[in-house]
Amino acid sequence: MTINSNYNIMSSNLENILIKIPEIGKNMHGLMVELFPICRSITGNGVRESLKILKKHIPLNISEVPSGTNVFDWTIPKEWNINDAYIKNSKGEKIIDFKKSNLHVLNYSSPINEKISLKELLPHLHSLPNQPNVIPYRTSYYKENWGFCLTHNQLIDLKDDEYEVVIDSTLENGSLTYAEFFIQGESNDEVLFSCYTCHPSMCNDNLSGVVLFTFLAKNLKNLSLKYSYRFLFIPETIGAITWLSKNEANLKKIKHGLVAYCVGDSGNSSYKKSRQGDAEIDQIVMDVLKNSGDEHKIVDFFPTGSDERQYCSPGFDLPVGALVRTFATDFSEYHTSADNTEFVKSEYLADTLSKYLKVIIKLEENFGKFKPNSKEKIIKKMKKNDRIFLNLNPKCEPQLGKRKLYHDIGSQIPSQGGKKIINQFSLLWVLNYSDGFHYLSDIVKLSGYNIHEIENAADELVKASLLKEIKNIDEN
Ligand SMILES: [Zn+2]
Repeated sequence: MTINSNYNIMSSNLENILIKIPEIGKNMHGLMVELFPICRSITGNGVRESLKILKKHIPLNISEVPSGTNVFDWTIPKEWNINDAYIKNSKGEKIIDFKKSNLHVLNYSSPINEKISLKELLPHLHSLPNQPNVIPYRTSYYKENWGFCLTHNQLIDLKDDEYEVVIDSTLENGSLTYAEFFIQGESNDEVLFSCYTCHPSMCNDNLSGVVLFTFLAKNLKNLSLKYSYRFLFIPETIGAITWLSKNEANLKKIKHGLVAYCVGDSGNSSYKKSRQGDAEIDQIVMDVLKNSGDEHKIVDFFPTGSDERQYCSPGFDLPVGALVRTFATDFSEYHTSADNTEFVKSEYLADTLSKYLKVIIKLEENFGKFKPNSKEKIIKKMKKNDRIFLNLNPKCEPQLGKRKLYHDIGSQIPSQGGKKIINQFSLLWVLNYSDGFHYLSDIVKLSGYNIHEIENAADELVKASLLKEIKNIDEN
């Protein structure tokens, strides 16, 4: 058999999967419904229980990394588990009940069992005044805190009363759990598919990514493929950082990668390019979207978003993009109880799966043929008054929270008017592009922030010893 006929058999095997896609879409949705009620977090039994369900579909390899383990600038936190949580009024009526929605509890809440006044309770309550009928999703992973999330209508109904607040949780030394599934191809060159498993009862963000990669892996696993394929099911941010720190020696095998989140909503497909911007994966995904005939959106890399932030940190700069549907900031159901099993539909999951399969078909067909642009770093002349910095922690993001540079309550939608939040994003822009090749004026152009915001961010990062000013590009 010649190599060419091998290609054809391979492509036709992959194309056979395309025929079954509507049926697979229904199965993906079914798996999502099964996973939905579980209270997941970045650690704990919710993740283990979810992975056990995925194991019925693909033979996952599960790792446990103990609390206290250092992973680059971060430390694996204590493990969080929860049995129950509620608020009762003085009549003994449960007015907030974790058993009705696990979003009701601030994820990672420390245990509490107390009777308190409304005044004492209010600072621990989170709601969305602009969306009064939905429960927001909030987290406090790295600062011990407790809290409840509720609809704004529930909040404004609260009377002056004595409330019994109970969070039956544990926060103890344990481990962080993640899973991998690896398909060995003819070559050791790898394609990385990464999704996150840490969100409780929400679907588009991100059970959609989990079920997409479970069924993609399940359908690829018995095919003979040129590339090797590695699927990661990890908690967002800390999981990607953990996996990168444990696999640093093998990262050179990764030739292409995609991160999947928000892949089951009714919006068009969107592609966020890798930081490199002109990698083979960028060109292939853009081709697939163009050839689909569907409306779609292509955006350049930005250093916020999901785990592509870590894979594309300047110390790694891996060719990893994000093929999604609607970005988090563009749908109001994001991080709320409205991101449920009705919001994600099997036909949209199926459509995304077909696009991922077409990307794989193209990658396999083009194996060994890609000629990268010769990347000569252009040595620019320094402009008057321009400044250039070097990120002293270029492998993954540094942990800004422990340096008091990041807000404590996670998962809030960044408001454009919020000066503090803008500052946080400008920190990420400055960190990601302070690679010794981008001046502050370049970061202004890339980020859309003004020079004062970028300079302030750089100065704060220098104070935190995360950045150092260099004289010019040759110093790099
Ligand atoms: Zn999220």
